[in-house]
Amino acid sequence: MTIEVPVLIVGAGPAGLTSSLLLSALGVDSLLVERRATSSPLPRARGVHARAMEILRGVGLEAALRAVELPILPGAEWRARLSGPPLREDVPGQRTRAATSPCEGLSVAQDVFESVLAGHLTAPIRRGVALESFTTAPDGVRATLRDVASGHREAVHARWLIAADGARSGVRERLGITMQGPADLGRQWLVAFRADLTARTGPRPRGIYFLTESGAALVWTHPDHRWMISVPDSGGPPDVAALLGVPVEVLAGNPWTAAAQTASRYADGPVFLVGDAAHRFPPAGATGLSAAIHDAHNVAWKLAAVAHGHAGPALLDSYRTEREPVGARNAGETGAAWRRIFAGTGAPFAGRSLAQIDMGYQYRSAVVTSDGTPEADPPGADYEPTAAPGCRAPHLPLGDGRSTLDLFGREHTLLTAPPGDGWRTAAAAAGPRLGIPLSSHVIADPSWPTAYGTGPTGAVLVRPDGHVAWRHPGTGAGSELLAALTTAIAR
Ligand SMILES: Cc1cc2nc3c(=O)[nH]c(=O)nc-3n(C[C@H](O)[C@H](O)[C@H](O)COP(=O)(O)OP(=O)(O)OC[C@H]3O[C@@H](n4cnc5c(N)ncnc54)[C@H](O)[C@@H]3O)c2cc1C
Repeated sequence: MTIEVPVLIVGAGPAGLTSSLLLSALGVDSLLVERRATSSPLPRARGVHARAMEILRGVGLEAALRAVELPILPGAEWRARLSGPPLREDVPGQRTRAATSPCEGLSVAQDVFESVLAGHLTAPIRRGVALESFTTAPDGVRATLRDVASGHREAVHARWLIAADGARSGVRERLGITMQGPADLGRQWLVAFRADLTARTGPRPRGIYFLTESGAALVWTHPDHRWMISVPDSGGPPDVAALLGVPVEVLAGNPWTAAAQTASRYADGPVFLVGDAAHRFPPAGATGLSAAIHDAHNVAWKLAAVAHGHAGPALLDSYRTEREPVGARNAGETGAAWRRIFAGTGAPFAGRSLAQIDMGYQYRSAVVTSDGTPEADPPGADYEPTAAPGCRAPHLPLGDGRSTLDLFGREHTLLTAPPGDGWRTAAAAAGPRLGIPLSSHVIADPSWPTAYGTGPTGAVLVRPDGHVAWRHPGTGAGSELLAALTTAIAR
């Protein structure tokens, strides 16, 4: 018997779990398969940036994630050795966070993060089940799944396949998609261990310690004195106790190689690569996990819009056009930051700021209508919220505990300033005319036109992923909105 499902998701890391959550929220069934029966003993990522938290807030997970947050002191600290005094501290400014986002970034180990996401899935997940093979056909993907323990095989027919199968993606390999960029920025050993380091770090450790004598990066991962350390490989696992000068209980260890790569294409017919399957970044700035969530966010609403018949299939082409340049940009920025960390030459993020990398990416594609404003994400930029087409629509508090961002997620949304009657009437006509849901909101906050870069009678069309599809500076005609919306849904 063949399992029929609209979307087959392969891999239950951050990218696959987020894909499942978003598709469920958008009313699309999926099946998630994960070849591992249990989560990895290595925590790997320990940081989720604000944009990814906004996306997870959109599916109701913010409070559950906050509840498992580690109480770190944000920032990095350089010491010669752990027992030595701080040589330098890099503490993130508090300047913009509250003004730019309703969400803070989150410090949590990847295994804990994944367990929270998995606990909120409503679509089925099969653990201990691997994608063994697949073929693509005009009507989608035909795949064979194999139960890793029993060897039992099952056939699946899916309209689309989301390949969230990580850095060594078998799906990517099967499709012959190559990686571009440096594959080897240095081999490291990652060791997870338990040790009480309170005497050296205080009860609230820094986000990360760089120990310059050994080249080690030391990160607190779990409240029960679990840590991880990554050290340049010198021919075998490091002696962590000798390196830190304290007794330690080693829990797991693995060599790994830093890379700054991006796939030559992020999609092939009905298959979409997301997360590490599409790109590999060195952990400088801790952007890999967050970018995996951004990818899932970009593709999920598009699949849903096509599945529900609201958008033309060409909307799916924009996944490549929009996410490939972001992956290449992030690989470039994090690769350069990684080299700067090891060269010891100043702040790692000397190009785009970390906030810009996280929130400032601008999509340019056939479904975004440019308004001629200059590029909002040039090299070297620091994040300034902007509603330029293709950018993340800025956060403004709505006064009732909600943010403008809470208005987005399910359908396209038109925002205007009061009274906004003309644009709202146009929206009420345009949605039914195209047979799609379209909501409209009047934002009472008098700073809205400035924050969104329109005149007082302007309007901004925001996509379900919170990116601006179109912006109009003033009073306009309903036909203009209809044209912009038609473009935004690739009809
Ligand atoms: C040492 C290290 C430190 C890192 N630190 C950070 C950090 O601080 N911050 C950060 O943001 N990122 C960090 N990262 C990167 C981060 O871990 C990854 O970017 C993130 O896990 C990517 O998520 P993903 O879902 O794309 O892939 P993964 O998490 O790799 O998940 C892929 C899943 O697919 C499964 N799978 C593979 N093939 C199949 C198959 N055929 N069938 C079924 N399942 C399959 C795998 O078992 C796996 O569970 C770090 C990575 C490393 C190696």
